[in-house]
Parts: sequence; structure tokens; C-alpha cells
Amino acid sequence: MRLVVGEAIVDLHPAETGDAGSADAYARRAGGAPANVAVGLSRLGDAPLFRTRLGEDGFGDFLAATLADEGVPADLVERDPDAPTGLAVVGRDAGGDRSFSLYLDGTASVGLRPGSVDDATLAGVDWVHIGGVLLAFEPARSATIDLLERVPDGTSVSFDPNARPGLGRGFDYGATLERVLPLVDVVVASGEDVRPAGFAGDPPELARSLVAAGAHTAVLTRGAAGAYGFATDDAPWGGAEADHGGFPVDAVDTTGAGDAFTAGAVTALSEGRPFADALAYANAVAAASTTAEGAMTALPDREAVEGLLAG
Ligand code: ADP
Repeated sequence: MRLVVGEAIVDLHPAETGDAGSADAYARRAGGAPANVAVGLSRLGDAPLFRTRLGEDGFGDFLAATLADEGVPADLVERDPDAPTGLAVVGRDAGGDRSFSLYLDGTASVGLRPGSVDDATLAGVDWVHIGGVLLAFEPARSATIDLLERVPDGTSVSFDPNARPGLGRGFDYGATLERVLPLVDVVVASGEDVRPAGFAGDPPELARSLVAAGAHTAVLTRGAAGAYGFATDDAPWGGAEADHGGFPVDAVDTTGAGDAFTAGAVTALSEGRPFADALAYANAVAAASTTAEGAMTALPDREAVEGLLAG
């Protein structure tokens, strides 16, 4: 059994015609990178436990129902009667790419407290995946670090460092990553995720810097050009370097491709596939996810991924 920790939030995005009837309207989608990873793992055949917090409101009901429909167990999905569900408002930046503005401070998502995943739960999982956004907020930052420090030997940890400086009050992204990376077996990121924390260079240079900061393995995604990964001898899968150029597909929406990639990487590595094969598998999951609209909705099942891998 695997465990995913992080936010499930509602993305409010400009409605496409037909979505809500008007081009001026917003429509809701289930989102949050860790929620996408949890659903991605489920669609690939093995649903994880998901430690997340939702408000006792309509958005929380919608997320809880979506997670249940996707086969994610409700055991660690907590409802907070005193705080609203987290939200993201999706816009377009000057380049036409989607931008996300997060409403998280004071929401149920960030109210995760130290000790709220108990040792018995941790003893029963063989993989823990942590989303980085909650590190910007207290008490979720302390809760996440507390949890990472209690992960038993032999349980692998993956981490998606997708926060930004200034996200939470007084949040120091670089200092937080320095604290977290030594507790991580594999960090999966795009350059855009880690450059704001002070890491520089191309994917191989970024990977080396992340490993020098303590992660046993670093995997850097680079859009349609696939991904690069570097693992030290201390990694659970042994020392390796791999470069995979991705799969050419007719991409219609790349939103959430990084989360699909993470779900693919966690699936392949936790199944014991060799590191280079795991990178190819993750690229296939991510490429398949770009061929449909949306992030969570576009996550592929195992059959679609195997089809792409078979060529
Ligand atoms: P993020 O979505 O986090 O910004 P990337 O843009 O690097 O991250 O994309 C993540 C992964 O999604 C890539 O490593 C690749 O496997 C896949 N991907 C992204 N865009 C495309 C595309 N146009 N065609 C095929 N695969 C893609």
C-alpha cells in the first residue's frame, strides 16, 4: 500500500463552451497536484491511501465524491467543520499558459498537524509521496517534516517540490527544501518547480544540485522532450543515469502532465522496474494525459499507457 500526502482542492477555471453554458463562467474541477497523483495511481491499478483535509462545504463534498468515484479510500480523508476547502483560480498568463492562483491560507488543506498520520499507518505502507505546496503553510509544513522524519527504513519517499516563494507568509522555499530533500528518495520536478528555490542550470545540472542537497534521486521533466534522471548508489533502485525523450502524441492540454508523470514514476519504481524503464513508463503516462482536456480527468489507465509503450 502506498500513501499520498497533500492537498485536494477545487480548480475554478474559465468554462469552455458547453462546460457551464457561457464563456464568461467558471467551472469547477477536482485538482491539487497530490490529489491528481492519488487518482493517477488508482487509475494505473493500485489506489493509495490519501491523507488530505477538506472543508465541510459543497466543494469538499464534490472532492470527497470524486475521490470515492476514483477508488481512493476515504480512511485518511478528513473533513474540517471549521475551515473551508482550498481552491485554485486558473487563468492564462501573457504567454497563453495556464496560471494558478491558490486560496490555501486558513483552509482545511493546510490544517494538517504533526502526528496526524500515526506510526501504525506509516508501518503499513511501502511508499510515501509528498506534495510540496503544503510546505509553504503552517501547521502543514511542520506536519510534513514530522511525518518524513518518522517514515520507517525500507519505505521509499517521493517528493514533488511544486511550491513558490511568497506562497505562504514568511515562507523560505530554499531553506525548506534544504530541510526536506535529505529525507527524500526521489524528487520529481520540472525546472520551473525548483528554480524559484535557487537551483540553476539544465536538467542534468538541476538533478546534480538536488542530489547534492540530499535527495537520493532526482528526476527532471522537460515538457515534450521527456525527462532526465539521476540516482545515487544510495537510492533504493541503485545508482543510475537515464534520459528518455518522451512520446510524440497529439497533445491537446498539458495541464497536470507533471502530476501524471509523477504517478507513472511512483507506479513503475514501486513495482521494481529498472530506473531507465521507470522514466519511460512515466513519460508514457504523462504523454497519454496530454491527449485529453483537463488534469485529473485526463489521467490514463494502464491499458492506454501499455498501448503507448508498445508503439
Ligand atoms: P509540468 O506539467 O509539471 O509543467 P512538463 O511540462 O515538464 O511538466 O511535463 C511533464 C511530462 O509530461 C514530460 O516529462 C512529458 O513526459 C509529458 N509531456 C508534456 N508535454 C508533452 C507533449 N507536448 N507531448 C508529449 N509529452 C508531453
